[in-house]
Amino acid sequence: MATRLPAIFFGHGNPMNAISTNEYTQAWSAIGAALPRPRAVLVISAHWYLPGTHVTAMRQPRTIHDFGGFPRELYEVRYPAPGDPPLAQRVRDLLAPADVTLDENWGLDHGTWSVLVHVYPDADVPVVQLAIDETKPPAYHYELAKRLAPLRDEGVLIVGSGNVVHNLHAYAWGRHPVEPFDWAVRFEQRARNFISAGDHEPLVDYEALGRDALLSVPTPEHYLPLLYVIATQQPGDEVTYPVEGGDGGSISMLSVRVG
Ligand code: ZN
Repeated sequence: MATRLPAIFFGHGNPMNAISTNEYTQAWSAIGAALPRPRAVLVISAHWYLPGTHVTAMRQPRTIHDFGGFPRELYEVRYPAPGDPPLAQRVRDLLAPADVTLDENWGLDHGTWSVLVHVYPDADVPVVQLAIDETKPPAYHYELAKRLAPLRDEGVLIVGSGNVVHNLHAYAWGRHPVEPFDWAVRFEQRARNFISAGDHEPLVDYEALGRDALLSVPTPEHYLPLLYVIATQQPGDEVTYPVEGGDGGSISMLSVRVG
C-alpha cells in the first residue's frame, strides 16, 4: 500500500510570492523537498470559484495570469506541469453524485502556481485543479471534500490554496512590514485552536464566529480551501503549521498540514 500523503493548506498571499524569495517561499520549498514524492497534486484554489463543480482534465494545463497591475515578470511565469486526465476522472467518480464537469478550458491559476513553483520547481508532478462551487454553503464543501480523502492513499497530494485571513480592503499594499490587525490575530488563533482540537463544526459555520470572522473572511473563496484540507483528516492524523506569519496586516500566511 502506498504511503498515506498529508493534505496541506497553503496561505498563498500576494501573487508576487511566485517570483520572490522570502520566509514563506523558502518554507514552501522545504515542504516540497521533505515530502514523499506524490504521483500527482490535486489543488483546490481560491481563484477557481464559480458556479458548478469542475475539474481540470486536459493533458497540458496552461498557466493563467488571473490578476492585474503586477510587473511584467510575473506575467512571464509559466508553470508547465502536466495534467492528469485519469485523476480528473477519479475525482469525478469520488464526488458522485455531485455533478462534476471535466474541464478543458481552465488551467493552473496563480493560487496554484504561485505556490507550486516553490514546492515543485521542476513542474514535473502532474497537477489537477478542482473548482469551488460558489453557489454552495461551507457545509456542502466540507462534506464534498471528505470524499476526496481516499486520494491520500493513492499517491495524490491534496492542496488547498487560499488564506485563513484575507481582507484586501485593509491590506497595506507596498507598505511592509505592518503589524497584523487585532481582529486578524484573534481570528487566526481561534481557527488554529479549532483545527488543532479537530473541532471542525465551528470552522464550517465560521460566519457564526462574529465580527472577527466577518472581517477576516469577508468573502468565502480564500477560506473554503482550508475546509477541503481539514475535511480529509483521518483518525491519528497529526496537525501541524509548517508556515506561520502574515502579510500587509490583513492576510494570514498560515499553512496547515494534516497528516
Ligand atoms: Zn489569492
